Amino acid sequence: MNQSLSIGRIFGIDVRVHATWLLAFAFVTWGLGSGYFRFVIPRQQGLVVPLIFGAVAALSLFASVLIHELSHSLVAQARGMRVRDITLFIFGGVSNILDDVKSAQDEFVVSAVGPLTSFALAGLFWAIGHSLNLPSPIDVFFGTSVRALRAMSPSAALLTYLTAINLILGTFNLVPAFPLDGGRVFRSIVWGITHRYGRATLIASIIGQLFGLVMVGLGVVRIFYGDVFGGIWTILIGSFLIQSAGAARGWRQRENQSTNQASALAGMVPRRP
Ligand SMILES: [Zn+2]
Repeated sequence: MNQSLSIGRIFGIDVRVHATWLLAFAFVTWGLGSGYFRFVIPRQQGLVVPLIFGAVAALSLFASVLIHELSHSLVAQARGMRVRDITLFIFGGVSNILDDVKSAQDEFVVSAVGPLTSFALAGLFWAIGHSLNLPSPIDVFFGTSVRALRAMSPSAALLTYLTAINLILGTFNLVPAFPLDGGRVFRSIVWGITHRYGRATLIASIIGQLFGLVMVGLGVVRIFYGDVFGGIWTILIGSFLIQSAGAARGWRQRENQSTNQASALAGMVPRRP
């Protein structure tokens, strides 16, 4: 990706931040600061403290995405593939792997490790919260438990957010829609069974495009019901999936394409309780 800045190296892998990431950082900080953390931090304290917690949560979210991508990259390296960089961008993260996967097993393990890592992170944050007797993230995030939210300290709310967002990150990326991790896992299974890479890619990318279309439709519905920000975000992720899945179909005829392991962020900003 062009217009990205290197922020350092981990295990020999260049970690980059794309210009569009700043937009995502601003969205998440604002969304959490003006929504979620407003319920945790007393109103009379103004917006500065909630925004600071929003920014910390946004940085922690992208650290979680980076760890997710790092798991893809490290497994790819262990399997003999060269990894050029990991780039964080508006929709999540991408591991730019220079070598094509050589076998269905390679693709299966490189793809499956990402969601598993996100679940492990969710488990870790949940365990810390559980040991501190915090309310369940499921109740706070998906329910309308404003009272539970108000009773929490800001750092407890941050921990709860990180548990929930890693759970969402792992689950969403398991959807069998190419180019999401689940779509790659699905392709590797079809590839392993049929021994036909091109056909497996075609099926996985069609599912990816259909899923993208469903997301665009869902986004329109969300806007219709007054959730303009969430709706636009859902439409953007859906369009990104349609475009990436379409590109993968074009690539299958060409040789030497790098294997981009992309992750998308859905439900990035929680619904306002
Ligand atoms: Zn992934």
